[in-house]
Amino acid sequence: MARPVELAVRIGWYIVKNKYLRGRKRFPLVTMLEPLEACNLACEGCGRIREYENVIHRQLTVEECLAAVEESGAPIVSIAGGEPTIHPRIADIVKGIIARKRFVYMCTNALVMTKVMKEIPPSKFFCWVIHLDGTGGNHDIAVSRKGVYQIAMRNAEKAIKAGYRVCSNTTLFKGSNPDDLHDLFKKCSDMGFEGCMVSPAYDYQAVPNQQLFLTRKQAIDVFKQVLSPDKRLGIKFYNNPLFLQFLRGERSYPTCTAWSNPTYTIMGWRKPCYPLADGHTQKLDDLMSKQLWDQYGNAEKDPRCANCMMHCGFESATIFGALQRPRDAFDLVRSGAITKSGITAA
Ligand code: SF4
Ligand code: SF4
Repeated sequence: MARPVELAVRIGWYIVKNKYLRGRKRFPLVTMLEPLEACNLACEGCGRIREYENVIHRQLTVEECLAAVEESGAPIVSIAGGEPTIHPRIADIVKGIIARKRFVYMCTNALVMTKVMKEIPPSKFFCWVIHLDGTGGNHDIAVSRKGVYQIAMRNAEKAIKAGYRVCSNTTLFKGSNPDDLHDLFKKCSDMGFEGCMVSPAYDYQAVPNQQLFLTRKQAIDVFKQVLSPDKRLGIKFYNNPLFLQFLRGERSYPTCTAWSNPTYTIMGWRKPCYPLADGHTQKLDDLMSKQLWDQYGNAEKDPRCANCMMHCGFESATIFGALQRPRDAFDLVRSGAITKSGITAA
């Protein structure tokens, strides 16, 4: 199943409606929903399982999840965690969101996804996003458990055969091997993944081994190799071409637009953003104020933003930036189409 045209149309109309008709300066584009923070893995670079260690046993109810989705109003809901497939009511959460005609992206390490596949049928509104940080042993090292890569790829194949939309999501750390990542992206593209998403890891303070994380300069150097044009032959990236240029250091943005990706957790909305939680709030409006974003969004405002290049902060910045620049807007619209050779027009 390919990326539905309706998705681009809905996002386009949603932006026009909120920005131009309603005159909203800040509004959600993607709701990041974390129904639980527990996981069946314990990756060395994971911030969540450490940040929420004291409340790791807690889970959102179906009603709480749907209320957050309604409060946000965004057309896309990215479900993560923790590992969302181990939430006992995950199928009801997904079905409830789809019933509201929102597009759901379920981020998973894929270990138990086939169990959930029995309860959630394939749909244009639903896409698996499989965590893959390399091929074979490289992924197993990243997730700190042997054999996970094999299970993830086997389950991805089953999902594609069963008619699900499937993407991959790869996080880059210090030591990520560009050639290995190229092999991974090529393999996923050949298998029928809808696209490969990439982002550098955020340097979560809760992670003991800070040596894992790339500085912004190091990340750009690696992305220049990973995303070099000759290496993209036959690879379908899911990120938009402007964000890929940003990762290669070919464009910059004065600040992130992380207000467009608010994250709802067992403690409430993370404040201010997906990577940082200086607090939590029960009111989404608290995340949309100018006063808040005067304090966050780049290294001058907060040094913890210095190395951040995450898609939750900057892929939306490319979209909102393109609204001011017709040439960028044209490139974004054009990238919605996949060329005949199967390469995204990046
Ligand atoms: S699979 Fe995801 S949520 Fe689980 S430990 Fe790894 S990074 Fe964290
Ligand atoms: S740049 Fe700062 S505020 Fe923006 S997403 Fe990254 S960590 Fe959050």
